[in-house]
Amino acid sequence: MTAPPRGVPPKKEAPPASARGTATTHTDHHPTRHRREDGFAAPTAEDRAVAAAVAVLRDHGYGIACRCLDCNRPITSAASLARMRGPWCAQRAGVTI
Ligand SMILES: [Zn+2]
Repeated sequence: MTAPPRGVPPKKEAPPASARGTATTHTDHHPTRHRREDGFAAPTAEDRAVAAAVAVLRDHGYGIACRCLDCNRPITSAASLARMRGPWCAQRAGVTI
């Protein structure tokens, strides 16, 4: 092998396969998170339709909000919407979702 000419940076070697961002090494994908025995259920047609509608609304600057069951304040975060309570009321009611 000959030395590279002066002023030319040495070639960088490709990172090892384990360091490359491929679909199989994505950190969010964990096989046990999608098992039925772990509580995973595939989204239904209604779930997909709602997700598509929410995406369209979000693209136009709208969001989803409802009122807390306990204090009637507006809540907008996904976690709060799932439990129908804001964080303080959920903590007071002992709701853990
Ligand atoms: Zn509340």
